[in-house]
Amino acid sequence: MSDKIAYIGIGSNLGDRLGYIQQSVTMLSSFDGIDVLETSGFYETEPYGFKEQNWFVNAIIKIKTTLLPIDLLHACQSVEEKLGRVRGKKWGPRTIDLDILFYDDLVVNSDILTIPHPGMKDRAYCIVPMLELDENFIHPVLKKTMLQIHSELESVDEVFLYGTRPVN
Ligand code: ATP
Ligand code: CA
Ligand code: CA
Repeated sequence: MSDKIAYIGIGSNLGDRLGYIQQSVTMLSSFDGIDVLETSGFYETEPYGFKEQNWFVNAIIKIKTTLLPIDLLHACQSVEEKLGRVRGKKWGPRTIDLDILFYDDLVVNSDILTIPHPGMKDRAYCIVPMLELDENFIHPVLKKTMLQIHSELESVDEVFLYGTRPVN
């Protein structure tokens, strides 16, 4: 299969958050058929949904891949497992979360896989790092650039470049 460009959203809010993110990128890049092209900055972000938990660190990687979407999902899930992800509460604490945000301009709607990731368009912690990687990338369903989606964000969740979050 030919090379595709995909974007993977990465999040962690347990333990050594930066360490888990870095390890997940190293582990993903060691798969045959996944080349990590670029990594966004790391952001500290207010938890989405369930607020009574640690803040997250989030980043996005841009990859070149020959894997089919389902195989990319399985690669992400195997890294999550190896890094000790325990599935508990929806949107609850986790050592690592790997979401396929985009896979080229492909649209997938199955029971186990939805691409583009359905939540990303409403989440500042997904859109802000995407601005860094490719602000003109067009969301294949909304037909809007990341810049447009960012300007229309309703979310008030806070996103700070790592290390710039004000201390209360
Ligand atoms: P959210 O998806 O809203 O960010 P979450 O990341 O906490 O929530 P998980 O528990 O990690 O949700 O994943 C639940 C299921 O989502 C997975 O088992 C997977 O099959 C499915 N899924 C659907 N689309 C995607 C996608 N684009 N990337 C990753 N997982 C997906
Ligand atoms: Ca997620
Ligand atoms: Ca997930």
